[in-house]
Amino acid sequence: MFDKIKKAFSNTIKKVSSKELTEKELDDIFFDLELALLESDVAQEVIEDLEKAMKEELVGRELDDNQTSEEVVREWLRNYLLALFDNAGSIDIIDSIEKAEKPYVIVFLGINGTGKTTTIAKVANLLKKEGFSIVMAAGDTHRAGAIEQLSIHGERLGIRVIAQRYGADPAAVGKDAVLYARSHRLDVVLVDTAGRMQTSKNLMDEMSKIIRVVKPDLKIFVGDSLAGNDTINQAREFYNYTNFDGAILTKADADVKGGAALSIVHITNKPVLYIGVGQEYDDLVPFDPKQFVDSLVSNNA
Ligand code: GDP
Repeated sequence: MFDKIKKAFSNTIKKVSSKELTEKELDDIFFDLELALLESDVAQEVIEDLEKAMKEELVGRELDDNQTSEEVVREWLRNYLLALFDNAGSIDIIDSIEKAEKPYVIVFLGINGTGKTTTIAKVANLLKKEGFSIVMAAGDTHRAGAIEQLSIHGERLGIRVIAQRYGADPAAVGKDAVLYARSHRLDVVLVDTAGRMQTSKNLMDEMSKIIRVVKPDLKIFVGDSLAGNDTINQAREFYNYTNFDGAILTKADADVKGGAALSIVHITNKPVLYIGVGQEYDDLVPFDPKQFVDSLVSNNA
């Protein structure tokens, strides 16, 4: 996983050679780093900010006798990247549900094909194992097959799915599910939403309406790690309209690049909560920023 971005950073660190970090040396290093990061799906603005901070803070820095410039750059990069993830904060979903008034409502947002429905089922599976009672709402009333797809997951997981006909108002489906959860004293409502590509403005209006009506405790953007700049642009647009609280990145198991998490966190300043690592229900793991950053700057990539 994420080999390209790991190589981008580790190659850069290894290239630092002189005892004093000059602007010329950092320019040379950055030229290669920029290309390598772009190839790893790191967004341009993330790279620009990194370059600016690196120059401001590292040019001319004198090193102690017992320090190598490689160590200094490695440490600087580790701190820079950790701060980026730290600033975005973190959310412990299980803890939040335990503390909240029930039902706790989570709306999932994202474009079709990113793995949104599978991710909802994975989250349902996770929360069920934690002992929570759950209902799911089939809020994608546009895409043919979407209601059946969620219903199949519901049957497999033993979780009730609230659905209406295709073309129904998704906000009404979400509201139905919340009312159902209230009357049955359930803990959690997971709301699927539409994700068609063609009419972005209508889609965003629809999302805003669902959010107004359902009043979720948590809004999660689901993005495909493999879709590069598309995922970053989708995250930006959904964030502008919905102000989501965090993201789940799918298909990390197949992602050799690894830049998606860094880009999304930088652009939205919201945390990545989980990553999808396969097609089975258990293939959802918490995203650990510290472990991720350590793997990026370690010297054995
Ligand atoms: P939706 O259109 O966004 O609801 O997408 P689906 O949930 O139908 O998923 C699209 C495809 O991606 C399916 O074949 C899923 O099995 C697959 N998928 C979803 N998440 C992951 C993941 O984390 N890893 C892998 N390898 N495949 C995934």
